[in-house]
Amino acid sequence: MKELVVVSGKGGTGKTSIVAAFAALTPSKVLADCDVDAADLHLVLQPEIRSRNEFRSGHEAVIRQDACIGCGACLVNCRFDAIRTVSNADLAWMFGAGIHACNDCDVCVRSCPLRSLDMINAMREASGEARKTAFVVDPISCEGCGVCVDICPVKAISFPERVSGEWFISDTRHGPMVHARLGIAADNSGKLVSLVRQQARQLAQDQNKEFILVDGPPGIGCPVIASLTGASLVLIVTEPTLSGQHDLQRVAELARHFRIPAVVGVNKWDLNPDMTDAIEAAAVTLDATPVGRIRYDRAVTAAQVAGKSVLEYSNNGVADDIRNVWAAVSALMQLDKPKANREAP
Ligand code: SF4
Ligand code: SF4
Repeated sequence: MKELVVVSGKGGTGKTSIVAAFAALTPSKVLADCDVDAADLHLVLQPEIRSRNEFRSGHEAVIRQDACIGCGACLVNCRFDAIRTVSNADLAWMFGAGIHACNDCDVCVRSCPLRSLDMINAMREASGEARKTAFVVDPISCEGCGVCVDICPVKAISFPERVSGEWFISDTRHGPMVHARLGIAADNSGKLVSLVRQQARQLAQDQNKEFILVDGPPGIGCPVIASLTGASLVLIVTEPTLSGQHDLQRVAELARHFRIPAVVGVNKWDLNPDMTDAIEAAAVTLDATPVGRIRYDRAVTAAQVAGKSVLEYSNNGVADDIRNVWAAVSALMQLDKPKANREAP
């Protein structure tokens, strides 16, 4: 089983459009969208979800209001400013029924048929003044360090696993796909990328598929490293700009460091032919073989808007360019052992 990972030094280079087009060309494969921070392959492939699963990663603090005595130790010691004070009225609004601390609304005094002020005052004292404010954790700011859990004198803080996103196994018109969505402000996208690849590999094994085609994340950070390690081949998509050249260098060096064979495709090459020449020359020095150029064509954007891959939308020159790149890449993928990069210096 071979695994092709398509990456770019930054977003917006046309990587996903190329993966979607490859999906239309590859007969026996599982698709994996590892761009979990900004997944968009599903917009073109319109998957029908077969299985939806929670992605749990890290922990978050949750203050149990019925146990909290309002000492404020957690607020003082949280270095991420994730603990806030709110009024009891806000707390009741946030958490609904079950919050019974006194908010001095006075309704009991006015409506008590016995006018038992002594009793009312005793109840107000027991539940009221000390609890006019309550302590809550802002889940977006909480980094899950656990300091507040240790420090709370009455152990009023729970520390459950955090649901950081979802991953899916779906059917598309081009075959099965594993994809994911990281939650807002959630981290650990590298772990989610590894999970998506692992599930894609399992699916490919179960269904006896020949290829895994991965839409990788942009950049060179942890998610990219998680998407590259152990791949058969990495295709770096770049654009003919100075930043494209710089991004290519960074990703190619990363691939070389992990000894993943790398090839390069320049997208929209005709916007700057001189820069395309320079990028391909630089790629060779980084042991990344140029495998083709893809011209600029408005049909690519029009295809995205129509929810299709460019190969399904148009049969013009850009489709031929992509077919040529795929022919070069798939020829390399058929090799038992693609040429290994030289050792990192
Ligand atoms: S777990 Fe850490 S970051 Fe989260 S609220 Fe507690 S002290 Fe703050
Ligand atoms: S440390 Fe515990 S008891 Fe004190 S305010 Fe925080 S949650 Fe409440």
